[in-house]
Amino acid sequence: MDKGKKFYITTPIYYVNARPHIGHAYTTIVCDAVARRKRLLGYDTFFLTGTDEHGQKIERSAGAAGTTAQKFADSVAAEFRALFEKMGITYNDFIRTTEPRHKQGAQELWKRLQEKGFIYKGTYTGQYCVHDEAYIDGATPGDPCPDCGRITETVSEENYYFKLSAFADKLLKHYQQNPYFIRPETRRNEVIAFVKGGLRDLSVSRSTFKWGIPVPGDPKHVMYVWLDALSNYCTAVGLGSKEKEEQEKFERYWPADVHMIGKEIIRFHAVYWPAFLMAAELPLPKAVIAHGWLLFEESKMSKSRGNIVRAESVIDVMGNDALRYFLLREIAFGQDGSFSFDAVVQRYNSDLANDLGNLSSRTLTMINRYFGGSVPYPSPLVAKRDADDVIRDQAQNTIAEFNQLFDEYQFNRALECAWTLVASVNKYLVEQEPWIVAEKEGEENKARLATILYTAAEALRVVTALAFPVLPESAAKIWVQLGLGDITRFNLADLKWGQLPLGGKLGKVEPVFPRADKSTIERMQQMEQERKPAAAAQTSTAAAPAPAGEGARPGQPATQAAHGPTEAAPAAKAAATAPDGKISIDDFLRVEMRVGQVKHAEKVKGADKLLRLEVDIGSEVRQVVAGIALAYEPEKLIGRKVVIVANLAPRKLRGLESNGMIVAASIGDEGKPVLASFLEDVPVGAKLK
Ligand SMILES: [Zn+2]
Repeated sequence: MDKGKKFYITTPIYYVNARPHIGHAYTTIVCDAVARRKRLLGYDTFFLTGTDEHGQKIERSAGAAGTTAQKFADSVAAEFRALFEKMGITYNDFIRTTEPRHKQGAQELWKRLQEKGFIYKGTYTGQYCVHDEAYIDGATPGDPCPDCGRITETVSEENYYFKLSAFADKLLKHYQQNPYFIRPETRRNEVIAFVKGGLRDLSVSRSTFKWGIPVPGDPKHVMYVWLDALSNYCTAVGLGSKEKEEQEKFERYWPADVHMIGKEIIRFHAVYWPAFLMAAELPLPKAVIAHGWLLFEESKMSKSRGNIVRAESVIDVMGNDALRYFLLREIAFGQDGSFSFDAVVQRYNSDLANDLGNLSSRTLTMINRYFGGSVPYPSPLVAKRDADDVIRDQAQNTIAEFNQLFDEYQFNRALECAWTLVASVNKYLVEQEPWIVAEKEGEENKARLATILYTAAEALRVVTALAFPVLPESAAKIWVQLGLGDITRFNLADLKWGQLPLGGKLGKVEPVFPRADKSTIERMQQMEQERKPAAAAQTSTAAAPAPAGEGARPGQPATQAAHGPTEAAPAAKAAATAPDGKISIDDFLRVEMRVGQVKHAEKVKGADKLLRLEVDIGSEVRQVVAGIALAYEPEKLIGRKVVIVANLAPRKLRGLESNGMIVAASIGDEGKPVLASFLEDVPVGAKLK
């Protein structure tokens, strides 16, 4: 195969600070559909995905979970892989930024940038957002991060800088000469405006933490996570390797044909990454394509709203194809789209169970019944009607139109076009009434029946071939039922009307899309509830720096910027909930939580874990026995403000009466307690609600 027939597509590598959710699944499904189609068209396709595992945030999250950064990354990376296996994702490689091959390649890229004179040393003092791993220009101490709302930290460090400022003109020229480099148009305009506004040099090393790739020749520094992460697209195909085979792989696949990303990380992929590549004198990717966000019932999914949906809830109940079809058919690619269980079921029932499912089962069942399971010969002379030609012509047009739309990443319109054909064929069957023709005597009627069923079966074959990248499991089944064998051996480039082998034997005919009933939605909601970390309402009100709403953020190679630093920590304990997992506001208001101040604290004799506290809650001083002795020295607690559940029935612990409960997060496998506290000063006795 010549290099022109290669196709290299990438997902972003997913940041291991968040567990995989449906936003990650969306990007990955889009890439999988594109990759499957390219393979079917005969391209030597390389599909890359993976995980981004370095950075201060991972170091801190691992610490909070009581484990090492590597173990933390191992466990979340394993979850991503397991999900992608379950989803039937056909990636060719899964790269992790903690692998030696990646570190070596990223360091190679650094050396090239340095050799060409684009890296220099400087000092930086300013405000830094740990969550976003980004310096905040113009911020002063105490300012919140404009992206996530968390309080910035003041840092001063000696850093390496990349001369990004030298690339503004070159980038603008590249955008101009390659109008399809950034898609869609809105993102392209956004990037051009950003670059025209001027580019400042970029700090590309950190010395305030260790969890990263050491800078070559200066191991006190680690590489900036974005420089580290972006280079995966090259290191996965062999950049920096000494092995001949890997070097040839790089020659063969680089540059990538498509970097598929979420819109919030466009700047990193369309400004920084091409600038790094220009500086290293490496070819640029051919296209950076940004999709929109997946909203849950119209609102942005975020951890603080607690509405992040996991892909498993849909695929365990409805199957992979139902999710794939919904995401690609329902959402105008590039724009934000809304997800709800209700909409998935509706779309599945109308387009798959009804339209395609009916076409498939009735056509094949009738061929079985009237022609003994052999594809009948159409009779071009005896029993021809104009309606047959209308279907043939529409099918041929559909092939051309579908291909064009899919190549333009307009998946929803491509599928809409294919399903218009499905609707036409279903209507054709209703009008031609093959079941009535079958009742009639004579050769001519037999020939007419053959023509009708051949026409329907051939149209079904066309739709199945086109839909395969989106519906790989079901299309493969229909293909077998049509008697055509393994669909992955078919060459989609050859698809045209009239290829169904006459007289061919059908496979065993079975329903492919069983109807989803009312309980389907409930089962998905149920699974979602069961999977939700039972985040303690106790800790969330008072936990440290949680932003009001977890907004989009640059700085994160995840497709959906909806995650925070503690999500991967194991859940505390399940709260008592109604069957749907929710409690009413009245239920919540029955819990009286107050700010208290510790007046006295001492160890309880004979109990390692318990402290006896006297806590002022404004109206009185309470005795509370709390299991926090392993994490807190009694002396250090005196004067500290805590959150106390004030209306808990008294209970006895080691003979001491405890009047209330101190609220704490429970961290790691050991359940290490961390007391809830406030950033601002709050008066003793204040009620939490
Ligand atoms: Zn931030």
